[in-house]
Amino acid sequence: MYDYLIVGAGFAGAVMAERLAKTGKKVLIVDKRPHIGGNTYDYFDNDGILVHKYGPHIFHTNSRDIYDYLGQFTQWRPYEHRVLASVDGMLVPIPINLDTINKLYSLNLSSSEVDAFFLSKAEKKDRVVTSEDAVVSKVGRELYEKFFKNYTKKQWDLDPSELDASVAARIPTRNNRDNRYFTDTYQAMPLHGYTRLFESMLSHPNIHIMLNTDYKLIEQDIPYREMIYTGPVDYYFDYCYGKLPYRSIEFKFETIEAETFQPTGTVNFPNEHPYTRVTEFKYLTGQKHPKTSVVYEYPKAEGDPYYPVPRPENAELYKKYQLLAAETNNVHFVGRLATYKYYNMDQVVGQSLTLFKKIISSKENGKHVNGHRISIPQKA
Ligand code: FAD
Ligand code: UDP
Repeated sequence: MYDYLIVGAGFAGAVMAERLAKTGKKVLIVDKRPHIGGNTYDYFDNDGILVHKYGPHIFHTNSRDIYDYLGQFTQWRPYEHRVLASVDGMLVPIPINLDTINKLYSLNLSSSEVDAFFLSKAEKKDRVVTSEDAVVSKVGRELYEKFFKNYTKKQWDLDPSELDASVAARIPTRNNRDNRYFTDTYQAMPLHGYTRLFESMLSHPNIHIMLNTDYKLIEQDIPYREMIYTGPVDYYFDYCYGKLPYRSIEFKFETIEAETFQPTGTVNFPNEHPYTRVTEFKYLTGQKHPKTSVVYEYPKAEGDPYYPVPRPENAELYKKYQLLAAETNNVHFVGRLATYKYYNMDQVVGQSLTLFKKIISSKENGKHVNGHRISIPQKA
């Protein structure tokens, strides 16, 4: 008899397994893929270069607790990600900053002058509702069209006016020369990769792992008390209200006979090519190697569910599933797919740690808790 059947061996499932196992619970973690790590899984390719199977994963957080928690399972390699965007035949920093504007328009503005520049271009909005509003209200329509409109169309197959403001608002605008993609307090990569981190998290005698298995094929045959579910929430309920849209990506890898391929970790292509971005892994991992491996991301509708699509009608549909989830006894829904949230890794870890604490305290108080009413760390 297992105390917990955990569906999914990504960050949500692994954090829950590790925490519960440490309190003496017996856990079976099942994943339909042939490996642990979920979307963060990395491996050495044929040339011995460490690559991320499901696209580039850069760890960043403002939470000391989350950084320290994961630090029990890996050493960290400090890494600050930098991205250039190919616009008007130039490679310029994204997020848009002082250097972006000066280079793009052959200017020599100061920080206060670039503030005035943005202000002169920005369109006044009473309410910022969509991703178009989010960008146009800060930098105006021309920069929106150069950097955001077409990238977003490619990534989501939606116009930014059809997506929640929160999507484009992930990318700030800066009046200084800071060209880091993220500004979180803690930015680092697991020194030996994510898969090794997961191996360390899951190496506990109370944790059993079953791979290549859809949980629906075994849940009747395996006795367990409670389930932690981290797969797509609509699949759990057999799509009873219809399918929730998830965006997928095809990843195309290439190894090049040169030490470096591009000038920075990622180059974004808002306007040309069918792919959105190219990432060169050696920047992320710090690996030294005479060759280099890159991945091209081609967004698509069909395939593995990678991105929930944040827009009002999807939030409505998710709410119906969320209500069902709340009524489902002894099943806790957690993670990016099970709670249909566009979460980064640290948010998923934080959400899982919060759920764990709720489960433990409800057991102590003799109360039942479901997986949906939980708080997650807010980004600064
Ligand atoms: P997942 O990692 O998706 O794990 C869910 C697991 O459940 C999967 O392994 C799946 O196989 C399994 N599963 C599903 N259904 C079943 C079933 N029926 N039976 C058995 N198993 C099942 N975050 C960052 O912080 N930084 C980044 O740079 C970053 N880059 C990203 C780039 C891309 C292209 C993508 C798609 C995401 C990125 N993320 C990034 C987000 C990050 O991947 C997620 O926040 C995190 O991996 C989610 O963890 P999870 O456990 O919720 O889900
Ligand atoms: N985005 C854009 N142009 C860019 C970078 C991002 O239009 O050069 C928009 C796009 O809609 C994208 C969103 O901002 O989906 C969030 O970008 P982020 O890099 O955070 O996406 P992720 O790494 O999660 O794929």
